[in-house]
Amino acid sequence: MYLAHLDGRLVLVSPDTLRAVDVERLSGGRFGPDPMTAYADWDAFRAFVATADIGAAPAVPLDQDRLGPPVPAPRQVFAIGLNYRDHAAEGGAEIPSEPMVFTKFPACLAGPRGTVVLPPGGNVDWEVELVAVIGREAYQVARADAWSYVAGLTVGQDISERITQLAGTPPQFSLGKSFPGFGPIGPWVVPVDAFGHGIDPGDLELACAVNGEEVQKGRTRDLVFDVPELVHRVSQITPMYPGDLVFTGTPAGVGLARTPQRWLVDGDELVSSIEGIGELRQRFVTA
Ligand code: ZN
Repeated sequence: MYLAHLDGRLVLVSPDTLRAVDVERLSGGRFGPDPMTAYADWDAFRAFVATADIGAAPAVPLDQDRLGPPVPAPRQVFAIGLNYRDHAAEGGAEIPSEPMVFTKFPACLAGPRGTVVLPPGGNVDWEVELVAVIGREAYQVARADAWSYVAGLTVGQDISERITQLAGTPPQFSLGKSFPGFGPIGPWVVPVDAFGHGIDPGDLELACAVNGEEVQKGRTRDLVFDVPELVHRVSQITPMYPGDLVFTGTPAGVGLARTPQRWLVDGDELVSSIEGIGELRQRFVTA
């Protein structure tokens, strides 16, 4: 079962039927309606889902246009720059020896489908990314144990306004990546142990397209620092809390690195997808 955020409420989604069951009703009030309640006590939530009589619960067809961000209020959002070799190379940058960490402020999070207003005068770019959701407080976690601290995975777009991102010396990435709507995630969270047969959560194809033209395509096995390595390294310094997000970085193909450079304009549609999870759809409009 996947976890989604429908009309402000936590729901379980069957991957086969795409029908949604309300978690607060199913659990008699133990979990939900706030989606964060699932991540706050992830082990108990998983045990509940494993034994709940989901098939007997009322279910509704899932309207993806009504989905909110599946993790609406993380305490911390970690984002990683230059974490694919081909993306570092296209920007002429060295491959980092340590993860390059910034934040997308949580106010920028948005649901999987919607409209994004282009900041006037901005150079707005795309970055499809795998996003990991923390399911258990992680502090100084060993790499070998790190997957057990991850509740699940979702699709993210690290939408970036490059002028703001790269202003200043040294540049501070976080604000340029945190305009309203610049952090769509979803359409749901796939628990790490709920990926389909033959799909390795450590090796997923990710891609994005502008108006149907594919602009990025990669595989998460090519991450410089993969999900367990990021949990290991970040948690050496700061505790990672249940419900925290990790935007893991983007592969090659961003507009910044093109000749000529290419930015999103009024009317563009961006579709971002990851194998075994789903897709995001954003329409861009001028203010
Ligand atoms: Zn990014």
